[in-house]
Amino acid sequence: MEEKLEQLKRAIQESLETAHNQDELETVRIQYLGRKGEINRLFKEMAQYSEQERKMYGQKINALKTELMTSITDRVKQFGVTSGDEYDLLLPGKIPFVGHAHPLTQVFNELVTFFTSFGFSVATGPEIEYDWYNFEALNIPRDHPARDMFSSFYIQDDLLLRSHTSPVQVRVMEKQKPPVKIVCPGRCYRYDAFDASHSPVFHQLEALYVDKNVSFGELKWILCEFVKFMFGPKTKYELRPSFFPFTEPSGELAISCTICNGDGCSVCGNTGWLELMGCGMVHPEVLKSVKISPKQYTGYALGMGIERVAIIKYVIDDIRTFYNNDMRFLEQF
Ligand SMILES: [Zn+2]
Repeated sequence: MEEKLEQLKRAIQESLETAHNQDELETVRIQYLGRKGEINRLFKEMAQYSEQERKMYGQKINALKTELMTSITDRVKQFGVTSGDEYDLLLPGKIPFVGHAHPLTQVFNELVTFFTSFGFSVATGPEIEYDWYNFEALNIPRDHPARDMFSSFYIQDDLLLRSHTSPVQVRVMEKQKPPVKIVCPGRCYRYDAFDASHSPVFHQLEALYVDKNVSFGELKWILCEFVKFMFGPKTKYELRPSFFPFTEPSGELAISCTICNGDGCSVCGNTGWLELMGCGMVHPEVLKSVKISPKQYTGYALGMGIERVAIIKYVIDDIRTFYNNDMRFLEQF
């Protein structure tokens, strides 16, 4: 038995040395380790030996078997070929994750691009604002019922988190004589419950154009251009009368529902229309409060929620999805 083991060891050594690829190694494996292989044949032969000898030779054969298995695995690695759990060099590589702008940022950028292409420049202002800029200069005196339209977060008696971006318009007109042609994007705050259509923090974009002879017709023209740019040339729009303390006359722009094309669906409440923004001619009292003569100058203003535009553009039914940082949602844009 000892001699047979030695012979087998030498034979295995030789076979391993002459195997030059994975197929040849597999032949070696079957020849020695297979069910009818040399090693199993030796195990069968042990029946003729005593129990002590069987134990001794059994250990030796097992050691030889383990050694052979290790050698085969090592040789497979040398060939650089997969043996199941190794690297597969033919698999396509992993594509690295590349991020992109948040859907609100994308809409924000589109809006700013539109207005700057018509000569508007971007103006920003503080998010903590004086009552004067947020309300009084905009023709909303203290104790005026119009303040109910804005549920505001007050910090002190005359200091609050701005409830719209209009204070930026006041700040710019205070410093700059007409022509004033600005677009004011930014974050706003209102005391609203956080639900599918409200958020206490949201984003607005307002545009203001004040100069000699600025007319309502110019406002209507830019609204028309805006709808075409943002929602496509086939989108219908409707300009309805409305009320805001800081514009006179005031209007509200609605567009034909982007989901049902005006036939009526749950998103548009079966009306076929979606309200998009408020607008109007700057109220003479607002111009007076920044010492611009309403007899010499006129202007238009318009404002919209950036979330609102994104909701309509991308057909989203819950405003909260914009803030949840859920990659399954964000990766769709
Ligand atoms: Zn609809």
